[in-house]
Amino acid sequence: MDRRNFLKTVGTGAVALTLPAASRPSAGPLSSEQIETRVKELLSRMTLDEKIKQMSGEVLGNVVHMAVGYGKYNTVNTPANRRLGIPGIRFIDGPRGVNLKGSTCFPVSMARGATWDPKLEARVGEAMGYEARARGANFYGGVCINLVRHPSWGRSQETFGEDPLLLGRMGSAMLTGLQHHVMACTKHFAANSIDRSRHFVNVTMAERTLREIYLPHFKMCVDAGTAAVMSAYNNLNGYLCGHNRHLLREILKDDWKFQGMVISDFGLGVKDTVAAATAGLDVEMPSTMHYGPKLKQAVRAGKVPEAAIDEAVTRILRQKLRFSHLEDRAGYERNMIAGTEHAALAREVAAKGMVLLKNQGSLLPLSRKEIKTLAVIGELADTANIGDHGSSTVRPPYVITPLAGIKAKAEGLQIIFDSGENLASAQKAAKEADAAVVVVGCTDKNEGEGYDRLRLNLSEHHEQLLQAVAEANPRCVAVVEAGGAVIMENWKDRVPAILLAWYPGMEGGTALAQILFGEVNPSGKLPLTFPRSPDQLPFFDNTAKEIEYGYYHGYRLADQKGFEPAFPFGFGLSYTRYQYSNLRLDRKAIGKDGSVKVQVDVTNAGPVAGEETVQLYVGYRGSQVDRPVKDLKAFSRVALEPGQTQTLSLELKAKDLAYYNEQTGSWQIEEIQYPVFVGPASRAQDFLSDAFLVKGA
Ligand code: BGC
Repeated sequence: MDRRNFLKTVGTGAVALTLPAASRPSAGPLSSEQIETRVKELLSRMTLDEKIKQMSGEVLGNVVHMAVGYGKYNTVNTPANRRLGIPGIRFIDGPRGVNLKGSTCFPVSMARGATWDPKLEARVGEAMGYEARARGANFYGGVCINLVRHPSWGRSQETFGEDPLLLGRMGSAMLTGLQHHVMACTKHFAANSIDRSRHFVNVTMAERTLREIYLPHFKMCVDAGTAAVMSAYNNLNGYLCGHNRHLLREILKDDWKFQGMVISDFGLGVKDTVAAATAGLDVEMPSTMHYGPKLKQAVRAGKVPEAAIDEAVTRILRQKLRFSHLEDRAGYERNMIAGTEHAALAREVAAKGMVLLKNQGSLLPLSRKEIKTLAVIGELADTANIGDHGSSTVRPPYVITPLAGIKAKAEGLQIIFDSGENLASAQKAAKEADAAVVVVGCTDKNEGEGYDRLRLNLSEHHEQLLQAVAEANPRCVAVVEAGGAVIMENWKDRVPAILLAWYPGMEGGTALAQILFGEVNPSGKLPLTFPRSPDQLPFFDNTAKEIEYGYYHGYRLADQKGFEPAFPFGFGLSYTRYQYSNLRLDRKAIGKDGSVKVQVDVTNAGPVAGEETVQLYVGYRGSQVDRPVKDLKAFSRVALEPGQTQTLSLELKAKDLAYYNEQTGSWQIEEIQYPVFVGPASRAQDFLSDAFLVKGA
């Protein structure tokens, strides 16, 4: 197809639009100068009606959103302008794959966060972007980077964890991959992390908490060039995020110099025409409720300056032109969608994201010499359990369940399956076998969009099942499926091996079997803290109209209160042993615009090849303000053969150590000592440490 043609509808028939010379896409991307010139030309030729039409969903009124439901409205469009050849936005969701039937279902974002592997995540983004574009979309709504403040949040699975740096690195990698094919949208801006009350809750927090904890990852995605940012449903410090001038205008557009467009979350993300339009909300989605005729009226009445409309349309056109060379899908093969290449990637990610939490007596990998009969227990072993059914739903062509994955790799091993419904029968199966794998966990019935997981333990039945099976067979492996943290205190001491599989996507069963049988050495690390009990967590109330978010959550809270979680942030075992040695800094003092190179040697001291994620945390000695014991400041994954040592180099910039000074409204680098901790997890006992000084310029 001629690349000058634009496709109007997603999935169904294509309407070709011919661009006028001024906005015709060239063979490659346009330069920023070309884009700005063309934006101005187009804008000068547009009527007010045409401009306003660019600013909201194609359908007038809220019928589409309310009546049609998911699956359909996730392919919602904003209108094309045929006269000027401007394409519409053809939106598609969501974080674990393209939200249309037949797409690749990747592991949920939380599982991908556990890979700590931005390069791999860029490949995932690339694959999702390809599938989105092959289906006719030009806009992908799935870069969800909200920080998990409390693991009860129902949508924890849609994001990459609890730490701003990890979220920012993973989110920006994903969007970079996506944007080789489509525009990417980073969401939900900001502080969206309770689901039940998301349409009314007012989250309050200090400006410093906002800047240091809840926003840095968004800034990283803006710096990585995200085409769009989606405002959140909740209120922040008294204003709906879609009406929040401080967030959208002062921080995002003025302070961070974001050049893209802000779209609303769907339906209730905008509640007032003037408030949204003047605060900097550029596109109302998914349909025209408060924009369209109401916006025109507001302009005519002088309540919304025409300059605000021009600015919004400038941003929309700028991104459409920036991505205009990607408008057609020539060369995009349908058979790549959920084809072997993307399936292999989904499998690789699933295997790299699984976290080995416990492996007493090296029970894993299962020894084929000693184990001739394996009991696979639990209904979830035989269930396609791939995550939420809200806006992030993916309907892949197949799902390899744990049982199917294990059976496919059984190679002569006898497999006994028991659904685990009846404890006596499960115990009998476990007794008859040489080892037992019990698959337990959550499903879309326990957590998801619109509903939080208030109970962080497994169900009573699953806890009893684990204990019963472990009693019947000491070679008991618990495989836990979930989108976030699970409290395991009732059973974790009685079960010798625990493997966290998350919701591992359509290839999850194969990845699981690869780990159980030692074909793949586990390398995932927790992207969030697993507490021992709810009192190790910040306050959470998903019915409250107002909730204050303090500075501390996750590992920062554990450090501040001095408690030990069940499994710390960054933790994950392997089938081999890594030794850290020879931590060295290239200098002990730097100026405020300087940086330190931190090097450490990592050795694979065990019997098998593996991949390790090295983590670097920094503390603040003698700070004038309250600061965390340590913050994650860098990390890197390294592959090591048995016996191999590699030197890893990580860079620390003084400017990344600044705190936000509320009095001056600026970032301040303190002239103090900064202790450096390097190790395999956030636990003090594992660290090598040193320190350096930042001195005046
Ligand atoms: C969700 C967004 C999603 C949108 C469209 C909303 O309910 O909060 O994350 O992108 O639906 O599917």
